[in-house]
Amino acid sequence: MSMQNRKHKLLLDEMLGRSASLLRIFGIDVAYIQSKGDDELASLAKKEGRTLITRDRPFADKCRKHGVKYLLITSTDTLGQLRQIRKDLHLTFTFPEKMRCSDCNTRLRKAVKSEVAGLVPPDVLKNKRRFWLCPKCGKAYWEGSHWRNIKRMYKSMMKK
Ligand SMILES: [Zn+2]
Repeated sequence: MSMQNRKHKLLLDEMLGRSASLLRIFGIDVAYIQSKGDDELASLAKKEGRTLITRDRPFADKCRKHGVKYLLITSTDTLGQLRQIRKDLHLTFTFPEKMRCSDCNTRLRKAVKSEVAGLVPPDVLKNKRRFWLCPKCGKAYWEGSHWRNIKRMYKSMMKK
C-alpha cells in the first residue's frame, strides 16, 4: 500500500454505502457503520485519524467546528462520489493487488481452490482460477460477472 493510502483512512457516512463497499474492494481502509449518530461518527473519525466523508452539509460544518477532517461530497451517484473522493484526497490505488473485504474492511488474501470449495458455486470453482478470502469473516471473492462491473467502475473512476 502506498504512503498516501496509509495516511488516508476514511469513514463514510450512512448515505454512502455503495461507495464504501467499492472503495474497500479497491483497497482503501474504509470504516462504515450504520445507525450511529453524527457525534459518535465524528469522534470515531477523530480517534482513528479518519477523514469523514459525507453528503450532509450541516454534518460537514459540525466536523469543521470540532476539528474533524472531512470531505463534503456533492454527487448523488456512486461514480461521481468515487471520483471526487479519489481526486480531492489524492488517493492512489493498487487494485486488484490489494483489496479489502466489502463487508468488514479486512485485507483479503489470495486463496487456492481447495480453500474456497463449498464457499463458491460449483461452476465457479471449476471455471475460475483466482480466488480471495477474507480472513476475518470468511467471505470468498472471485472474478465473476459482478467482478466485471467492479472493474468497469474502477476504470471509470480512474479516468481524468
Ligand atoms: Zn470480511
